[in-house]
Amino acid sequence: MDGALDTPVLDDHMHLDPVHGRGVEAAAEFADNGGTHLLVVNKPSWHLLDDLPSDAEDFRKVFDLTVDVVERASEVLPGRAWPVLGVHPALISQLVDDGHDPAEARDLMQTGLDAAAEYVADGPALGLKSGRPHYDVSDAVWEASNDVMRRGFDLAAEAGCAIQLHAEGGEDFTEVAEWAEDRGLPADRVVKHYSGGRLQGITKSVISNKEDLELAIEEDEPFMMETDYIDDPDRPGAVLGVKTVPRRVRWLLEEGHDEAVRRAHVETPAAVYDIDTAGTLE
Ligand SMILES: [Zn+2]
Repeated sequence: MDGALDTPVLDDHMHLDPVHGRGVEAAAEFADNGGTHLLVVNKPSWHLLDDLPSDAEDFRKVFDLTVDVVERASEVLPGRAWPVLGVHPALISQLVDDGHDPAEARDLMQTGLDAAAEYVADGPALGLKSGRPHYDVSDAVWEASNDVMRRGFDLAAEAGCAIQLHAEGGEDFTEVAEWAEDRGLPADRVVKHYSGGRLQGITKSVISNKEDLELAIEEDEPFMMETDYIDDPDRPGAVLGVKTVPRRVRWLLEEGHDEAVRRAHVETPAAVYDIDTAGTLE
């Protein structure tokens, strides 16, 4: 393959939308540019369903779509893709706007996480996804959101898997780390998606801007790289493009950061998810 970089190249958090987006074609473009492995997070339920989810079955529809597109994406990658399944924290606001109280919204979102955990236990999914709103919310919604996230920690501990978080900006996640550890989930298996280059408490999945990557390397701690590519034809350029992680890896290698590339694409994924990106390369 022309774009091959002679190393595993993992995008730790991106989306493939088989309904409205490019789906497998986006994974192929990633591969053409040197990408080898993907963690594909299900799109928020309201992007894939006609209505807000109302029970576990609705969440399963979203998860099944994701598992299916991931299987097909694996076929075009030199390595493979894995699904990461869960419930987007902003769903709570949609449910509250729709007339649910925060406790009802919490219960429904926990039902969604319970369903996601079954996909981990049964095999197809690698990990879970939860978090809490990144914008200001009422105290009741904040508390309910933390309850949802802590259920995610219980489930990840039980399944022995990692959990990605969508959360507010900031660098101090030591309290969140304690909540995870209290539930038997090692804090390094909690991954903050869309992280900057510096983070305390949990593992960072760094958004692949050059400045953030340079800071992550300076910090000299485990990290991964992501784009949060959303595969949404209506919002081109809303986040980083699907080629960004391979491009940044090429740049890091040119700058002599071979060790950091190994850390982000082999060592940290192995420690966090128990995956072997080097061994799963053809
Ligand atoms: Zn995302």
